[in-house]
Amino acid sequence: MAMHSRAISTSGPYLERRDRPGLRLRAAMQTDPGLRDNNEDAGSVDLEHQVFIVADGIGGRAGGEVASALAVEVVRARLAAARPEILKLAALRRDDSQHMVSALLECAVRGAHYEVSQRGGHARHRFRMGTTLDVVLVVGGEAYLAHVGDGRTYLVRDHKATQLTRDHTMAAAMIAAGGMSIEQALVSPLRTVLSNAIGTSDTVRVDLAQQTLQPGDRLLICTDGLYDYFDAQELARALSCLDPDRAIAELVRAAKGRGGHDNITGVVVEAF
Ligand code: CA
Repeated sequence: MAMHSRAISTSGPYLERRDRPGLRLRAAMQTDPGLRDNNEDAGSVDLEHQVFIVADGIGGRAGGEVASALAVEVVRARLAAARPEILKLAALRRDDSQHMVSALLECAVRGAHYEVSQRGGHARHRFRMGTTLDVVLVVGGEAYLAHVGDGRTYLVRDHKATQLTRDHTMAAAMIAAGGMSIEQALVSPLRTVLSNAIGTSDTVRVDLAQQTLQPGDRLLICTDGLYDYFDAQELARALSCLDPDRAIAELVRAAKGRGGHDNITGVVVEAF
């Protein structure tokens, strides 16, 4: 039996003591199994610690569900515990303090890789379970991004959506190497084969990025089950016109209406 859609909406205003004056966040998340029996996606909205996470699990026999939930919880817990340190670093406003916040974020993601790898190794039937992982940590008006796999984070500003992450797929690697055109990649089976993931091999590559937020900015963190059904203009329109909870509900509803062949998960964060 299909699981029911699970919606988590959290609204601000939440003003951080040491954050840039006036910049507040509100956020909402929705995850839905789509047409599938299981939901291997997971996500988290933690407004208190300003941490937002989406993960898309892989690996049969419940392995994917375990991997994505575990990765989300490890990162959330580590960044919540590190919040005092992160606030101190942000308050220093030195050149290297932002680099150190990014390093703490990377450390949390590598912690998730370790935990998922360990769990996969111990449970025979979950061997090679893994997950994608996209994390946004906000402090001092800066959004710090960590990215592994083929989830995506978009910035919507001035009614335009910009993808801030690069898909870690075999097709993307082929394009980068000059072995495939973008048009060929759109229909290639390699489009859905991950070249990098949490927990599936000894090493993991963690992409890190940073984005200064402005009031009115929206971030969308989502799995492929969501972004596969929309172009950037459609995403920008939905996020620009609606509150986070209504925007994510509308996108999930539309993705299901257009097929919903995969699990569908998204987190929308709005700075205001
Ligand atoms: Ca998926």
